Amino acid sequence: MSATPAAGLHHVTAIAGNPLRNLNFYTRTLGLRLVKKTVNFDDPGTYHFYFGDEAGQPGSILTFFPWEHAAPGRGGLGQTQQTTFRVPARAIGYWTHRFIANGVAYEALEKRFGETVLSFTDPDGMSLALVGVPGAETEAGWSNGDVPAEHAIRGFHGVTLLIDDASRTGAILTDVLGFAEAGREGSIIRYRAPGAGFGRIVDIYEAKGFLPGRMGRGSVHHIAFRAADDKAQAEMAHKLVQDHGMHPTEQKDRNYFRSIYFREPGGVLFEIATDIPGFAVDEPLAALGEALKLPAFLEPHRKDIEGVLPALDEKVA
Ligand code: ZN
Repeated sequence: MSATPAAGLHHVTAIAGNPLRNLNFYTRTLGLRLVKKTVNFDDPGTYHFYFGDEAGQPGSILTFFPWEHAAPGRGGLGQTQQTTFRVPARAIGYWTHRFIANGVAYEALEKRFGETVLSFTDPDGMSLALVGVPGAETEAGWSNGDVPAEHAIRGFHGVTLLIDDASRTGAILTDVLGFAEAGREGSIIRYRAPGAGFGRIVDIYEAKGFLPGRMGRGSVHHIAFRAADDKAQAEMAHKLVQDHGMHPTEQKDRNYFRSIYFREPGGVLFEIATDIPGFAVDEPLAALGEALKLPAFLEPHRKDIEGVLPALDEKVA
């Protein structure tokens, strides 16, 4: 695990359509590791995929609920507008060619806060970007053979939230979640978590008067922030209640982390997830993502669950 402070993004969870198409795009086209193949604990007839770096470190984890029949989402207020990944600055050319070769829809390069941004969309229309970060080449990159390690994604850069009024959301980011305001550019206010490395940026795009978004396929479902452990999480929950009038849920055991949830004032569902115990709790690091893993309370129903989950073989592609 990294020695940087336990602050910043823990994971981002989004809604996809066809599970095999989702799996192929993130593991093959983007070269992320499938670090956990499990089910939605609240809807165990559907998958929950976790993609990330080699060890599935907090700040590298993008997860999906693949709901084959989900209607397409619509961007707007109260939604995550874009989810961004870090790559070495000199890898942007490689990725542009890779997107052309793989038929990935992408946009012209732009600059944000001095960094080069390559925006693109996944097969479900989810808005993503690669951000070329000078110095990221010194961070470890994981390769599954499809994307060379030198060009590989180094975790999240961050997320951009589309919000009507940044002030109350910004106050929670700075007062509770450990971020500090780090700059402004146009309508975007940048917040940064302390320390170096991935998963430390939240940009608020303040867009008064936009239409509200609608959750669906291609939408981010929620953003999870890091807490080192249960004690740190309880302190954050206390602050949310006492100082911000929020009503976080009771703690839920997600097997790989423990979580509380609340809807922040701008409308985005936030989660606070513990760094512990992590993804190696039920299978060895070398075998992450290979077997279908179920929490203890669902293990007695494994046969039924395996019977209803869509097959992940090539013919569905
Ligand atoms: Zn989550």
